[in-house]
Amino acid sequence: MEVAQGNPRRGKRVGLLAKSVENWFKIAGRELPWRQNRTPYGTLVSEAMLQQTQVARVSPAWKAFLEHFPTVDALARARQDQVLAAWKGLGYYRRARNLQAAASVIVEEYFGKIPSDRLSLEKLPGIGPYCAGAIASIAFGKREAIVDGNVARVMMRIHGRNVDGESRTGKAWLWNRARDYVTESRNPAVANEGLMELGAMVCTPISPKCGECPVRKICGAYTAGKQNQIPRPRRRAVRSLLHANAFLASVNGRSALVRRPKFGLWSSLMFPPTIESPNVISRKVLAQRLGVDAKALSARGFFTFLTTHRLVRFRLWNVDEASARNLKNAQKKSWTWHTPRAVEKLSITSAMREIYEQADAHENAKAQARKIRSKKGSMKARKSGVK
Ligand code: SF4
Repeated sequence: MEVAQGNPRRGKRVGLLAKSVENWFKIAGRELPWRQNRTPYGTLVSEAMLQQTQVARVSPAWKAFLEHFPTVDALARARQDQVLAAWKGLGYYRRARNLQAAASVIVEEYFGKIPSDRLSLEKLPGIGPYCAGAIASIAFGKREAIVDGNVARVMMRIHGRNVDGESRTGKAWLWNRARDYVTESRNPAVANEGLMELGAMVCTPISPKCGECPVRKICGAYTAGKQNQIPRPRRRAVRSLLHANAFLASVNGRSALVRRPKFGLWSSLMFPPTIESPNVISRKVLAQRLGVDAKALSARGFFTFLTTHRLVRFRLWNVDEASARNLKNAQKKSWTWHTPRAVEKLSITSAMREIYEQADAHENAKAQARKIRSKKGSMKARKSGVK
C-alpha cells in the first residue's frame, strides 16, 4: 500500500481507524431491513435505491420492492411499468430502469447470479465504481474500496486535508485513502459499511458530533479544530431555467396523460401533457399549439420545482371539457386517457404529484373566494333592505 508502506505513522492511523470503525459499527450500526439478512440481490437493490435517496424513504420501499420482485430473475422478467410503479416515491426513475436492465444482463450473461468482482459489476447498467465496490465488499466480503459523499468527507477530516472531490487528483487521493483503509480492515464489509454509517450518523456535513465519535483521537480535523472547515463547502451548481406549461384535461372523468420522451426530465414516465420552453409562452400561443381557442384554457396555479440541474417554472392550465373532447380526437396518438384509479397505480413523480396538489389548492382557493364574495354580496343586500 502506497501510504501504509511509505508513511508508517499514517499507516498506523489507518489501521486504527479501520479497527475503531468496525468495533463501533457492530454496536452502533442501525438495524436496516437490507442488513438483517444480507444477500447479493438485496444489496444490489438497496445500493441502487440509496443513491440520492434518504434511508427513511428507502426502508419501506426496499421491502415492498423485494416482495414484488423477490429474485433477479423476477425483476428481469417484469414489465417495466410494474418496476416503475414499485419505485414510486423514490424519484430518479432512471435508477429503476437501470436496475432492471442490470437484472437482465445478470440473467443472460451470469445465469442469474450476481457477479462478485468489481470489473464485472462495473459493466452492469447503472453500476459505477462506488456501487461496484459496495456490492463486492458488503455482499461478497471482497477487499474493495468505496468512495461516496460520506466516505469522502470522513477521509478528508481524518487526514485533516481539504481536497476537491470533483478533480482528478482529488478523486485519486480519496480512492487511495479508501483502498488503504479497506486493506487494513479485518472485515471489509463491516469496515466499509461502518465508514458510510459514521459519515451519515456522526461525521455529518454540518455540525459533526465529534464528542460521540469513535475516531476523534486520530482525527486530523478534530485535533486542529477544523472539522467545520473540512471539507470546503461546494459551489452550488447553476440550474438552467425551464418554463413548463402543464395541461389538465379530462373527458368523462378520465384524465389526459402522455408518455414523456425516452431521454431528459422524467424520461419515459406518464405525465400530464406539457409544453416546455426556455421562455414564457403566452396563453394565445399555447392554445394555438394545442389547436384550441384561447378561452378553452384557464389558469390553475403555478409553482417552481427544482431538479438537480433545472429550475422548472410550472404553469398549470385547465382545458375545458368540450375542447378536451376535441383534443381527444386530435391528439389520439400521444394523449392517453386514464381513470383516477389508473392514475393512482402509475409511478407518480414528485413533480406530477405537485401538479395535482397545486391545481387542487388553486381550485379550493377559488371556491373559497367565491364563497366570501357571495357572503359579502348577501350582507350588502341585507343592509340595503334594512334602509
Ligand atoms: S472527530 Fe469529528 S470530524 Fe473527526 S471523524 Fe469524528 S465526527 Fe468527523
